Amino acid sequence: MDGNILRDETVARLRAEIEALGNPHVCLATVLVGDDKPSQIYVRNKHKKAEEAGMRSKHIGLAGAATQADVEDAVRTLAADPDVHGILVQLPLPDGLDAEAVLDLMPAAKDVDGLTEASMGRLMRGRDGHVPCTPKGVLRLLERYGIETSGKSAVVIGRSSLVGLPLAVLLARKGIDATVTLAHSRTKDLGEACRDADIIVGAVGIARLITAEHVKPGATVIDVGVSRTESGIVGDVDFETVQAIAGAITPMPGGTGPMTIACLLENTLEAARMLGAVAR
Ligand code: NAP
Repeated sequence: MDGNILRDETVARLRAEIEALGNPHVCLATVLVGDDKPSQIYVRNKHKKAEEAGMRSKHIGLAGAATQADVEDAVRTLAADPDVHGILVQLPLPDGLDAEAVLDLMPAAKDVDGLTEASMGRLMRGRDGHVPCTPKGVLRLLERYGIETSGKSAVVIGRSSLVGLPLAVLLARKGIDATVTLAHSRTKDLGEACRDADIIVGAVGIARLITAEHVKPGATVIDVGVSRTESGIVGDVDFETVQAIAGAITPMPGGTGPMTIACLLENTLEAARMLGAVAR
């Protein structure tokens, strides 16, 4: 399941939609605190792909020594700016900064990362709202590659509010209809939890945690985890052994990462619609 191809298709579709609407102003704003290199690359990619999709983008970069008030001011400014439709605060924030207080300042319509209480509450209630980008990207991959979810058993490993928990909720939603197990660090026997699953998603961040022993022949395996090793980026899935028995598998990199960006851009266009800046 190639995330780069699906990301490119999504960017092209968004660009065509925006062109068909007469190229309205649609703007994604990002806030990055500190000089963490991977975060800088993520943010730069988001701007590059936004531009390819026909969107504008804006960036506020704050020094690692920024105070809570500096970060909150940046978000307040973007929240009040009528020319900004989506706001993404790159997480995690440096130690000592309170991300929850920052998210609390975000208007739900501009919360394109889907992480505020309002967005999460809507997700739980099955109401319209922004869905976190990585879980949404996983669903897009399943749809695009024709993976049946209804009545299937899915195991999501990892329960963060960024990835695992919202993904488990989405997979269990009416219309998607998987039977979901949510595994985590206290799960007694991960192998047993996974072995009968039709769909396995690793969202942990431990290199090659999921091996062929965890996977039923023909199962779909999706890798969200990112570990930086001396040999480069490695996922939660031991790709070489698992691909031999899986029915479908995402590479890492090149699977869920590009789809996270694609879904961020989908959410940004939707934010512009919610704010009345773009016609439905
Ligand atoms: P996180 O907040 O650190 O959560 C990790 C989860 O893994 C926790 O729920 C933890 O359980 C669980 N876990 C830890 N050790 C485990 C073990 N041995 N067996 C089973 N579960 C275990 O991380 P996150 O923000 O969800 O991100 C997860 C990974 O995805 C990271 O590598 C991150 O870099 C990556 N990521 C990738 C993308 C993408 O686009 N591909 C996007 C976002 C994040 P407890 O809750 O019990 O501690």
